Amino acid sequence: MTRLITSFIDGEFQSPDGARLFDKRSPVDGRVIARIAEAPQAEVDRAVQAARAALLGDWGRMPMEKRSALLHAVADEITRRFDDFVEAEMADTGQPAHVMTQVFIPRGAANFKVFADVVKNVPTESFRMDTPDGRGALNYAIRKPKGVIGVICPWNAPFLLMTWKLGPALACGNTVVVKPSEETPLTAALLGEVMAKVGVPRGVYNVVNGFGPKSTGEFITTHPKVDAITFTGETRTGTAIMKAAAEGMRDVSFELGGKNAGIVFADADFDAAVDGIFRSAFLNTGQVCLGTERVYVERPIFEHFRDALKAKAEAVRYGRPEDHHSTYGPLISQEHRDKVLGYYQRAVDEGATVVTGGGVPDMPAELKGGCWVQPTIWTGLKDDASVVREEIFGPCCHLRPFDSEDEVVALANDNVYGLSTTIWTQNLTRAHRMAERIEVGITWINSWFLRDLRTPFGGSKQSGIGREGGVHSLEFYTETRNVCVKL
Ligand code: NDP
Repeated sequence: MTRLITSFIDGEFQSPDGARLFDKRSPVDGRVIARIAEAPQAEVDRAVQAARAALLGDWGRMPMEKRSALLHAVADEITRRFDDFVEAEMADTGQPAHVMTQVFIPRGAANFKVFADVVKNVPTESFRMDTPDGRGALNYAIRKPKGVIGVICPWNAPFLLMTWKLGPALACGNTVVVKPSEETPLTAALLGEVMAKVGVPRGVYNVVNGFGPKSTGEFITTHPKVDAITFTGETRTGTAIMKAAAEGMRDVSFELGGKNAGIVFADADFDAAVDGIFRSAFLNTGQVCLGTERVYVERPIFEHFRDALKAKAEAVRYGRPEDHHSTYGPLISQEHRDKVLGYYQRAVDEGATVVTGGGVPDMPAELKGGCWVQPTIWTGLKDDASVVREEIFGPCCHLRPFDSEDEVVALANDNVYGLSTTIWTQNLTRAHRMAERIEVGITWINSWFLRDLRTPFGGSKQSGIGREGGVHSLEFYTETRNVCVKL
């Protein structure tokens, strides 16, 4: 069945009459699964107006307890409609059911619950000061919502990443205008149904669909009545959005690209390290910002590790997401597949030894129209090869041996990105020492992708601006104001 997806503004789905429609194709087999109405400037204007009206109206005046309870109701309704969300996200991304049921959809519900509770438990500061008349004055800080937040999302974990922004934005009393990626509009639309059902006031949550440059995305980021912009996506896009936000001095929060290092010492729990690096390189077909595309393995175990990782990569089971035997899905689009296959070719041109993969798997006829590529491992590239330096965002990694801690720290840091790293060793003293030396926002030790939503999340260097998670999200989604009372 082909769905029709229109903007959700002021509590209602808009009419598709007169809209320019574009196709959303299944990454699994290339079939058209939805037609999407692109929101022109006028529709974005209406979404921003609705968001501002809600900010000044019901939502802005709502007591924190009630707002928090409504966000819990949103989470409960997502859980009640769990299968619908799983189905929609599988249709959009083509990723296996277990990724949706275990990670993406539960995290979406959790994102509302966690921040609904966080906002109720944050103290504000106060300072008692002396005054010449001896009576003193009391300063205290209050937190106010930033206003209308533009939320621009990528396609790789659409619901998880969108709600990671919506949870704190709404909990803090803001209203939002969201643009999902044009590749993954389905769960954002479903969330509109949820918001309406549980009674979130009209205009609090607005969704407009379309493309980025010269389209819906840019209409949001250049809109003078959007007070701040939160964005997850490529560093290059972040640069364009930052320029747009400079007009009007609007604040930005950015979660951007990565070229993350995985580091495996010879003393690591070998099987756990192979499993961990395998997941970090190939989960979600490598389309994870926190994924590992550079793997450094201590020389004594290099060959053994390479062979074990190869065996796991060759054991993935391709298939439709709803088939519970599938462990591995397609890339998101033909365009992205062309980019990844371009890097597969470039690796060979740059002198790589292809340990496994490097091409397109032989798929059954009904799946040949999908965006399939093989999980790929290389060795033998120089440290300055583009494949070792640039984010590919596909199911691939390069393995390189190392001989000392100093050497591997320098290698890990030798990149413009600084999002995350994963270190595998039984020597925890060394692991802690390295965590202080590696220039990233998140270091995992003997683990990967373990997230406590109260902790600060974000990238160093060109991987982002700002930290989100727990109270850290409040730094962006609220404005702190001081009140000084003469006593
Ligand atoms: P893009 O930067 O291509 O797109 C992200 C969003 O921005 C899309 O909705 C896109 O629209 C929109 N967009 C593009 N150009 C503009 C513009 N000029 N103005 C306003 N909006 C615009 O990223 P991808 O969707 O390709 O996502 C993959 C990237 O996201 C990778 O680099 C990955 O590392 C990063 N990422 C980072 C994370 C982190 O936490 N640090 C987490 C997840 C991903 P459309 O595509 O519809 O045209």
